[in-house]
Amino acid sequence: PDVVLEAEGLTKHFPVRRGLKDLLTRERKVVHAVDDLNLTLRRGRVTALVGESGSGKSTVARLLAQLYKRTDGDIRLRGESVEVHGGRAFRAYCRRVQMIFQDPFASLNPTHTIRYHLTRALKIHGRAGKNSAELEQNLRDLLLRVQLVPPERYLDKFPHELSGGQRQRVSIARALGADPEVLLADEPVSMLDVSIRLGVLNLLADLKDRLNLAILYITHDIASARYFADETMVMYAGRMVEGGDSETVTQNPAHPYTRLLIESAPDPDRLDRVGDLRAPEDQGSGEPPSLIAPPTGCRFHPRCVSAMPKCSTELPPRFELPVVDNGQSHWAACWLYEEGAAK
Ligand code: SF4
Ligand code: MG
Repeated sequence: PDVVLEAEGLTKHFPVRRGLKDLLTRERKVVHAVDDLNLTLRRGRVTALVGESGSGKSTVARLLAQLYKRTDGDIRLRGESVEVHGGRAFRAYCRRVQMIFQDPFASLNPTHTIRYHLTRALKIHGRAGKNSAELEQNLRDLLLRVQLVPPERYLDKFPHELSGGQRQRVSIARALGADPEVLLADEPVSMLDVSIRLGVLNLLADLKDRLNLAILYITHDIASARYFADETMVMYAGRMVEGGDSETVTQNPAHPYTRLLIESAPDPDRLDRVGDLRAPEDQGSGEPPSLIAPPTGCRFHPRCVSAMPKCSTELPPRFELPVVDNGQSHWAACWLYEEGAAK
């Protein structure tokens, strides 16, 4: 399928406020939130980015949405590099790549109606229509797209008059108002009632098919990635550790961290519990590391049951893994898969 958005070597380091001791030693500290990340989003496909809180996955979404300036690396929309901030290409990018946030209440202004939010999105992107009749039709179409029917029941409501799921549908409608090619969905269902999560994920899947969108689905829940995403990438402590076809990654996880994530999932077949994963750090299997001084070598080595001597000193590159049967690639950044390594 067509590549829409690519990130190469994407890196974000945040400066840390310096204490007196650091001033005296002239040490400059940074948080290594994202390091050297490569990612490809394709039309008509959902790519999941899975990791526990603090793994840097939300930072990736914000970098791709241009809400943060990257420290290093390249972002390309349909092959064209997007420079950091400003200019026509940048504005076009911001229209084509839309973000959906985790908290649908915080992302909608409580003092304005749904009509206001959607009209504003359409106007910003020059899609409001030539007259009020066309605008009205465009507003109705947006609400129909997200299955809020009949539209007139919702248009003049305020956010607080809607349920969490309805609000998230409005946020999605607002993003669609820009006529995007890419949706970046950062934990779009994790704040919703368990009973309505699937409905929102199914809506996104339906939009992906009908509008041929590329969707980045960010989640801490690998079970929902298996259900919803075509491709799954796993992130740990600011680095990508495994990626490939979702079925392969979730059925035959290769990286010890991915295995830990899957063991922590309540039951991958219990879709009524989508988004209900307990984070591994709640289970006594160690803490995610500090990203101010991340572990050397493989960042997972302090928690890894398979760690070897070189793991603490040498960063593992991506090793390609045998492909199961559907011709999709599968890789893991782990020394276990180095040629000749004892498994
Ligand atoms: Fe474990 Fe070593 Fe693989 Fe890292 S590289 S996951 S420490 S075996
Ligand atoms: Mg987050």
